Amino acid sequence: MSAALKVHHLDCACIQRLRLHGRRLACHCLLIETPSSGLVLVDTGLGTQDFVDPARRLGLTFTYVYANPKRDPSYAAVHQIRKLGFDPADVRHIVMTHMDLDHVGGLADFPNATIHLHARELDACRARRTWKDKKRYLPVMWAHEPRFEAYSEEGEPWMGFESIRSLRGLPPEILLVPLFGHTLGHCGVAVSDRRGWLLHAGDAYFDAREVHGPDRQCAWMVGGFQAIVQTKRAERLRNQDRLRRLTTEHPEVRVFCAHNPWELEAMRGEATGAARGPFPHAGLAAAMRGA
Ligand SMILES: [Zn+2]
Repeated sequence: MSAALKVHHLDCACIQRLRLHGRRLACHCLLIETPSSGLVLVDTGLGTQDFVDPARRLGLTFTYVYANPKRDPSYAAVHQIRKLGFDPADVRHIVMTHMDLDHVGGLADFPNATIHLHARELDACRARRTWKDKKRYLPVMWAHEPRFEAYSEEGEPWMGFESIRSLRGLPPEILLVPLFGHTLGHCGVAVSDRRGWLLHAGDAYFDAREVHGPDRQCAWMVGGFQAIVQTKRAERLRNQDRLRRLTTEHPEVRVFCAHNPWELEAMRGEATGAARGPFPHAGLAAAMRGA
């Protein structure tokens, strides 16, 4: 394994309504520099079109009830990628944790990118079987008819989790790790960079205390939200237990979710060299307890 990938941590939406210990939520996406597959995004957050008329594109419930996203187009991944000195046209692949609206809003800003996801998630977002699915999966986000690559065949396990390896056209250091529950085909994305493995756990949890420390704890607001939007409660909680085992048995793996602003800061600090040593799971959980 070459471990040559370089990972940038982007914040691609500011969720102002839902709070975690009083703080606004982030939308943590990854931009990965690869040697032979161009740039790879993990999730997109909100895109340029979402900031033009959020209520119309994202719906009234998301815009006014759950999120009230900050109307600041500089959060769009495409602008951040340009600011980093890259050409957005070099984003050739996007790996999705799941297809919820706040994760796919930016897909249309990368019309030529191939979208990699679990087959169960692609089926769910196309079928939109339930009322809840109709609110969360918005076909307008993929109306540009991108190419999808869907997977269900599992390969060698990763850290005790099922894993989907050999994503087509992507280096072997990027894997899908099924973490079903939030949505039917929700996955984490494991990436090996120069420091070792990291796991973007998507929306498998929100509050770091759900997966760190001996007992599960969760702030009431994000706890309630997760309960409302989940599709399989038992699977979601079982996967949090498995993630807790991972953070205990493999403290060297940097585990973070999509919306936790403390985790985003920790990962950005690490990327810029501000934080050294193992990923501060314990410190994070303690900081949030005291928050
Ligand atoms: Zn989300």
